[in-house]
Amino acid sequence: MGKKAVDIDHVYDVLAEEYERLEKPSVTAIAEKKRDPFRVLVSTIISLRTKDEVTIAASERLFAAADTPEKVLALDTEAMEKLIYPAGFYRNKTRTIKDISAILIEKYAGSVPADIDELVRLKGVGRKTANLVLVEGFQIPAVCVDIHVHRIFNRLGYLSTKDPDKTETELRKKLPQKYWIKLNEMMVTYGKYICRPISPFCSACGLSDSCAKVGVTTRR
Ligand code: SF4
Repeated sequence: MGKKAVDIDHVYDVLAEEYERLEKPSVTAIAEKKRDPFRVLVSTIISLRTKDEVTIAASERLFAAADTPEKVLALDTEAMEKLIYPAGFYRNKTRTIKDISAILIEKYAGSVPADIDELVRLKGVGRKTANLVLVEGFQIPAVCVDIHVHRIFNRLGYLSTKDPDKTETELRKKLPQKYWIKLNEMMVTYGKYICRPISPFCSACGLSDSCAKVGVTTRR
């Protein structure tokens, strides 16, 4: 017997319903306060290897002092490090954000480019960050794949891919575009609270009946 096809509309409905009662990812919360690509780019960099609540507080402190590339460049480096602290790697992140700000002023008239190929040319910006800037900064449909998105689609049996880049390629072909914008924020939240990396809460998951649970060895 062949594998059951995943009903992606049902998956989306369940995720959307759960998302209503769970906490939003930090960058989404920041973007909803002010839809500004520069803020999204900077807070995404701050968020790497950093807890959501630390990211939100650090970003707010920084934006109160500097929320444009020009203002970031004018900030004293040590003062900026203090604003971002205790985000992980706050010294490196300060340097990266300052370098990016300089490039934005020099090459893009102080604006963030709304183009994936241009975005990934910026120092420290990979596909995940670039796609998140398109989605959260510009509301342009893009497929932002992080470890949660990669893991959940593979567990569901919707895809069978080895790494996030391949997952992005496959999703761009297979996933209806109407789902792209909300996809990352909903799946990141679902991955954090329900379909956790280790021992997911399958007993509390509305997708349990249809989920193939590929690679899931322990569950709750
Ligand atoms: S049933 Fe389990 S493995 Fe499948 S999506 Fe839900 S939590 Fe994840």
